[in-house]
Amino acid sequence: MSSPIIKLDNVQQVFSNRTVLSIETLELGEGEIVGLAGPNGSGKSTLLKLLAFIDSPTSGVIEFCGIPTSNKPGAVHRQATLLVQEPYLLKRTVYANIAYGLRVRKKNDISTKVHNALVEVGLDPNSFSQRQWFELSGGEAQRVALAARLVLKPKVLLMDEPTASLDTKSAQLIRTAALNARDQYGTSLVIASHDLPWLGEVSDRTIHLEHGKIVEIT
Ligand code: ADP
Ligand code: MG
Repeated sequence: MSSPIIKLDNVQQVFSNRTVLSIETLELGEGEIVGLAGPNGSGKSTLLKLLAFIDSPTSGVIEFCGIPTSNKPGAVHRQATLLVQEPYLLKRTVYANIAYGLRVRKKNDISTKVHNALVEVGLDPNSFSQRQWFELSGGEAQRVALAARLVLKPKVLLMDEPTASLDTKSAQLIRTAALNARDQYGTSLVIASHDLPWLGEVSDRTIHLEHGKIVEIT
């Protein structure tokens, strides 16, 4: 593998004196697609929050592009983004939700980028841009949440059971849009899912967790 985007070295996460995650070594390459499988409580979400730099590990080192993240927490936080099963949207319009990150980063051509991001997740910009957050179905809300992430061209997109509670059409659009991001921008994907056939189909490798440990890689 060329130099990894994210590298974990002897990482442990401990909650209330209980080690819920213990990873000796794990590397994520640029443009790589990694599946995360394992029963409920095996540590998938805990690992994704570390990879998204939302939580810090109790012990061990996580490097982002060769730099330990403890040195630069703010800078790396923006390079990875996590899509969770129940998306959090700003209590505003679809447009405002997708434009938000672009504004924070002082990007140009915001309306064009929002438009393209909506098309990317299969939502017609004409009918969705001005809709309020409460006017969306679960699948539409999840697609808006994904569009708000893809519009920032993240280096790493983490997805925590992204399609678990969605209608077939939304699930398919989420899957396709994530793969397109990989193909267009070289975004690395880490996908936690119980859908093993899907992981087997799209992933370069699938990591199987049990009790917080890697038990198999397929
Ligand atoms: P999965 O996503 O595979 O279902 P999780 O990573 O959510 O598993 O959880 C792994 C273990 O860590 C579980 O036993 C869970 O109860 C525990 N856990 C997760 N987050 C916390 C927390 N913030 N405080 C205490 N225990 C936690
Ligand atoms: Mg989970």
